[in-house]
Amino acid sequence: MNAQKFPHTIIVGAGFGGMETARRLVNAPVQITLIDRHNYHLFQPLLYQIAIAGLVPSQIAYPLRTIFRRQKNLTFHMGEVTAIDFESRYVKMDGSVMAYDYLVLAIGGQTNFFGMSTVEQNSFQLKNIESAVSTRNHLLEMFEKASREVDVDRRKALLTFVVVGGGPTGVETAGALAELITHVMAKDYPQMDLKDVHVLLMEATDHLMGNYPDELRKATIDLLRSKNVEVLLNTKLSNYNGRQITLGDGTQINTHTLIWTAGVQAAELTNRLGVQQAASGRVRVEPTLQLPQHPEVFIIGDAAYLETGEGQPLPMLATVAQQQAKVTAKNIQRILEGRSPEPFHYKDPGLLATIGRNAAVARIWGLSFSGFSAWVIWVLLHIYRLIGFRNRLVVLINWAWDYFFYDSQVRLITRE
Ligand SMILES: Cc1cc2nc3c(=O)[nH]c(=O)nc-3n(C[C@H](O)[C@H](O)[C@H](O)COP(=O)(O)OP(=O)(O)OC[C@H]3O[C@@H](n4cnc5c(N)ncnc54)[C@H](O)[C@@H]3O)c2cc1C
Repeated sequence: MNAQKFPHTIIVGAGFGGMETARRLVNAPVQITLIDRHNYHLFQPLLYQIAIAGLVPSQIAYPLRTIFRRQKNLTFHMGEVTAIDFESRYVKMDGSVMAYDYLVLAIGGQTNFFGMSTVEQNSFQLKNIESAVSTRNHLLEMFEKASREVDVDRRKALLTFVVVGGGPTGVETAGALAELITHVMAKDYPQMDLKDVHVLLMEATDHLMGNYPDELRKATIDLLRSKNVEVLLNTKLSNYNGRQITLGDGTQINTHTLIWTAGVQAAELTNRLGVQQAASGRVRVEPTLQLPQHPEVFIIGDAAYLETGEGQPLPMLATVAQQQAKVTAKNIQRILEGRSPEPFHYKDPGLLATIGRNAAVARIWGLSFSGFSAWVIWVLLHIYRLIGFRNRLVVLINWAWDYFFYDSQVRLITRE
């Protein structure tokens, strides 16, 4: 069978949506080119574990050439797609041009600083391996600096860690950071007075965990406070110069660390496509996930804008991207068979977020629960969702070690 005769399907982005689309097309009569700027698939939900020195990058990332080694109808290229010509049907990648019959754009999102340039310049973010590793280096360095700082106020500023954004990423980061300090750093720095250390979680609205039910929002706050995280609701940040946060009401907080988790927008490439964009720069797609006027183009995941039956935008979640990938792969095959594509309907699998050791909040099958049982589900689900048996095993061993010995293996400060 000569694969070259099959329609050429380019998938841009090998995150949750792109990787799942490629896998689902394994037996389809298409020749696939998968493109990503990285040579690995990254499990973003565990990025915060890199930042808090719980895991190393190779445990949550997996080489794409290994993942697709056996998929005969797929070729992988590492490169940056810089432009797309929808009329002539080609993509530009690192100066070369590649024609397609079908195109799947699964390019994901990037951090949204809402135009606050000083915050963008001076804060840390959790979006890729590089940003998570620099956050880890910085956090650990603050303890080193604080350990030799004699001035009380300067030491306090070094040991004040502010996380902005009360969604799952902010909550998980603040909870895990507080535990790293209490269980691990306190042992590494026996002279350190824990009273000098502050972990603050700031949120602009009056609640954490926006799309969670009230009982879980409350449980989240209680769990965070039990781990010594100071939760500041209704708190808007207006400036951060790298040393001092200024709040909307003029209050100032001295800190060297601001971790920004308060916003996501579609990947930068979407702004250069000349297509209709909606909130957060996401590209408006048809219910079938096709680009209007271009039925051969599918846009999925964080980069796509589609509303639920209730008129709400679909959340920027891995589960949405993966379910859309399934429908996209099916729709490409339906079109090849001369059938009409099907609309996408999101099936909400529930909500789950961890707040450090033995603590998580979950909403599954319409039931809310929190605490140890939710935490066990979180651990098992995240181990299961990681790519590759080796990664699963290593992460399991790592977490078991940390759990039983109150330790964290990766407290390395590396130079970038
Ligand atoms: C810290 C963090 C925690 C999260 N936690 C959760 C969670 O617990 N549960 C959950 O469901 N979701 C979570 N999410 C959201 C989830 O990761 C995203 O919704 C999901 O990754 C979106 O999938 P995607 O395929 O659209 O994009 P991605 O998975 O982001 O993949 C996009 C890919 O496109 C590539 N790319 C982008 N532009 C180009 C270009 N121009 N050229 C070449 N390649 C390009 C990128 O390198 C990337 O590999 C989290 C996100 C973050 C950042």
